[in-house]
Amino acid sequence: MPFRLRRLLQNRWLIGAICGYFLLPSVALGAWPAPRTIDEDRLADAGLRIIDAEHATLVTDFASSPEVEVLPQLIDLALPHWQRRFRVKDKKVEDWRLRVYLIKDEAKFRALGLWPNQSQEFLHGLSLGYEVWLRQQPTDYYQRHLLLHEATHSFMSTLLGSCGPGWYMEGMAELCGTHAWDPRSRELRLGVMPKSREAAPHWGRVALIRKAIDEGRALSIDAVMKIDNRVVLPSESYAWVWALSAFLDRHPAYRDRFRQAPGWVLSENFNRRFRAMYARDRTQLDQEWRLFIESLDYGHDLAREAIDFNPGQPPAAGGSQRLTIQSNRGWQSTGVAVTAGQPVRISAKGRYIIAHDPSGAPWPCEPNGVTLDYHAGRPLGELLATVDAGDGAFTDWRPIGLAADYTPPATGTLYLRVNDAPNALADNEGSLEVRVKAAKQNDQ
Ligand SMILES: [Zn+2]
Repeated sequence: MPFRLRRLLQNRWLIGAICGYFLLPSVALGAWPAPRTIDEDRLADAGLRIIDAEHATLVTDFASSPEVEVLPQLIDLALPHWQRRFRVKDKKVEDWRLRVYLIKDEAKFRALGLWPNQSQEFLHGLSLGYEVWLRQQPTDYYQRHLLLHEATHSFMSTLLGSCGPGWYMEGMAELCGTHAWDPRSRELRLGVMPKSREAAPHWGRVALIRKAIDEGRALSIDAVMKIDNRVVLPSESYAWVWALSAFLDRHPAYRDRFRQAPGWVLSENFNRRFRAMYARDRTQLDQEWRLFIESLDYGHDLAREAIDFNPGQPPAAGGSQRLTIQSNRGWQSTGVAVTAGQPVRISAKGRYIIAHDPSGAPWPCEPNGVTLDYHAGRPLGELLATVDAGDGAFTDWRPIGLAADYTPPATGTLYLRVNDAPNALADNEGSLEVRVKAAKQNDQ
C-alpha cells in the first residue's frame, strides 16, 4: 500500500501499548468514532459504576476507593499538561472527553458490549481514539501510569491526528505516564523523573535499563528509534523509549528541540527531521546518551550532569593551567588539550561538601574523597579525570585524588569531576582549585 496511506493507518489505528496494536483499514481515514452509548441501568444491574469528571467518564467494576474515584479527575488535571506539551489550544479541548473502562472482570464488559470491537486481546491497556481500556495493575501508581499512558495515545491520536512513529508514540506515552500525584494538594505532575523506587512502585523502567546495560545490551539512540510498536513489545522496549524521551525532554541542551517534535507527527519524514535537528551536535548527544544510560538511577539529575563541551587548548610550554571544578556538577571541561601518551600533572585542593548524613549534617570532603561512602567503587568526592576524544570517554575515567600524573589514553580535551551519583549532586557545595601542567619526566 502507498507509504502515506500506510503511515496514516499506522498512526491512527495502531494501538501501542503496554497494549499491542491492530489495524482497521476501513475506518482509518475517517474521524475517530464517539464512544459507544451506554445504558446506565444495565450497567448498574451488572454491578458497574460510572464516575464522571469534566473530560473523562470512568466505567468500572472496581469497588469504590479514593484511588479509583480520582482516576477520571486525573484526566482533567493532565489536560493542561498535554495541551502545553503538544501545543493544543483551549478551544480544541473544550468538548474533548475520554471514556475509560477499568476492568476487573472482563466477562462483564464483554456481555455489555463494552469490549473493543477490533481487538479481543490486549495485555494491560488499549487506546482507541476516545476510548481506553485498562486492566487491573498491581499498584495504584502503576494503574495511574497505565491510564496516563493510554490517555496520552488518545490525546495525540484524536487531537494531533497521529502519534508519530512507534518509538515516539510509546516514548511520549511513557514520559507522560511517569507522574507524581499528591492527593492532598491535588497536584499532578507528568514527565517527572521518579525520585526513588518507592515513588513509582511496579514501574521498574530504571531496573530494566540497568539489567540491559549489565548484560551488554545498551541501545544507541538509532536503535531505540527502530523500536516498532506494531509488534507486541517486551517491557524492556518501553524502558528504552521512556529513557530516550526522558533524556531528550530534560537535558538543557536538547530539550527545546525535542519539544518541537509534536509538530511533525503527521509527517512521513518524522525520523529524518528528528535526526537532522540534532545533526550539528550528534557526537555529543550520543556521548551524553551513553553516559546517561550507563549511570541511570532514580532521580537522575540531568541538568547537573549536562556536559558543557568546551574544546581545550594546549597549555603554554612549561606553564600550567589553573581552573575551578564545581562539586555539584558532572563532567567539566578543563579547557586543556592533552595528547595521548603525554602525561600531565593534575593537582587539586579545596574543601567542599559531598553529602549529608541522615541527621542533615554535612560531610566535608577534599579531592581524595571520603571513605564514609563509595560510588562506582571509589571514595565519594574523589577527583576523577577523563579525555574527550569524541567517543565514550565519560564512562571510562581514572581517579586523581589530591594529585597524580595522568597519562591521557587519547588526544582530546581533559575533563574532571568529583565522584558522586547522578542523583546526589544537588546537595554538594563548594569547589576545587585545580592545576594542570605537563608532567616532568622524573615526576612519573
Ligand atoms: Zn502505548
